[in-house]
Amino acid sequence: MQQITVLGATGSIGASTLDVIARHPDRYQVFALTAHSRIDALAQLCLRFKPRFAVVADAAAAARLQALLGPLDCEVLHGEDGLCQVSSAAEVDAVMAAIVGAAGLAPTLAAVRAGKKVLLANKEALVMSGALFMQAVQEYGATLLPIDSEHNAIFQALPHTYREGLKPAGVRRLLLTASGGPFRETPLCELAQVTPAQACAHPNWSMGQKISVDSASMMNKGLELIEACWLFAAKPAQVEVVVHPQSVIHSLVDYIDGSVLAQLGNPDMRTPIAHALAWPERIDSGVAPLNLFELAHLDFFEPDLDKFVCLRLAREAAEQCGTAPAILNAANEVAVAGFLAGDTGFLQIARIIERTLQQQAVTAADSLDSILEADRRAREIAKHWLAQESL
Ligand code: NDP
Repeated sequence: MQQITVLGATGSIGASTLDVIARHPDRYQVFALTAHSRIDALAQLCLRFKPRFAVVADAAAAARLQALLGPLDCEVLHGEDGLCQVSSAAEVDAVMAAIVGAAGLAPTLAAVRAGKKVLLANKEALVMSGALFMQAVQEYGATLLPIDSEHNAIFQALPHTYREGLKPAGVRRLLLTASGGPFRETPLCELAQVTPAQACAHPNWSMGQKISVDSASMMNKGLELIEACWLFAAKPAQVEVVVHPQSVIHSLVDYIDGSVLAQLGNPDMRTPIAHALAWPERIDSGVAPLNLFELAHLDFFEPDLDKFVCLRLAREAAEQCGTAPAILNAANEVAVAGFLAGDTGFLQIARIIERTLQQQAVTAADSLDSILEADRRAREIAKHWLAQESL
């Protein structure tokens, strides 16, 4: 029986994870569930999965949750310390890192430093702290398994020797597929008017709001490009983005002998979650089998970098390295929150990020302090530009 902590249990990935866990009560037990603002939803999950611990944002939320749980034997913790405690506890076998944004960095790193099996959905944590994060994985003997469907696909299509380098493994390129999001066919001139509701209406995936906006701007693919570089020790030039609107091929690996290995499946996050939970075994995920006859055809396009400026900015940050990805990520979080709040327009997201990157000097990302300082400063600058770009 494996004990699982689900960070970000009330979110979209949290729900898919708990769906898979519930299908295998003989294999998995929930050790801890965490949330930030949705206390009622967390209470429902606690009553159903009966975790030993639950974690919320602060003492007031903890008192509210405790009252909702009544006599349930579940200890309620709060704050970053509580999150780190349940991701590093000795009893825990695996941690699903599914908090959105930079808030997930500390508890995810705590799980890595405790040598856990870490199921990484929270790509922002790796984007911010890449080198440091991967060093910690090595140093503490953690097992890092990608949950992003693209990286999970690449992980499945690579030989197990990939950590010794892509070149010795005979890999030429990693082909990262992208749906193109809800605005793939929207002309650039119409993007100035799009609303948060339109940006969140993803054609293939049902996801949290932040990643939905990231998908619409293609920043999600940019963050994934950086994530792929760290996970698979690839140079940015070895990662090519391919727009594939059906989201059935989740990514591909191109080998020097001309072989291209792809992983296919219905667009449902329960597949990569079940893969990572059970790895190296396979378990049922509840996902329907892929029907190739219904699909009939698969399309591929080059991304339009003039329209999706965020993707270009992310590639540049990946090439620059140091604190550039942390600055990019922080500015994006501020800009997306501003867009979702109705304070700024969709096209302003890229502008705010670009101005922040131009204004803030990139330094070496050689300590957690330098990364957190870059993140803090970038948020300050991005908030200034958000105010300038307000509607
Ligand atoms: P959601 O917005 O649906 O859920 C986010 C979760 O994080 C919620 O449980 C939320 O709690 C919690 N949370 C938010 N802010 C904080 C905070 N400051 N401190 C602690 N917890 C917090 O996001 P998703 O599930 O869509 O995405 C989660 C992560 O997975 C993201 O990094 C995303 O990029 C990645 N991912 C998501 C995919 C998807 O299909 N959704 C696919 C691949 C990757 P509360 O609900 O209480 O606010």
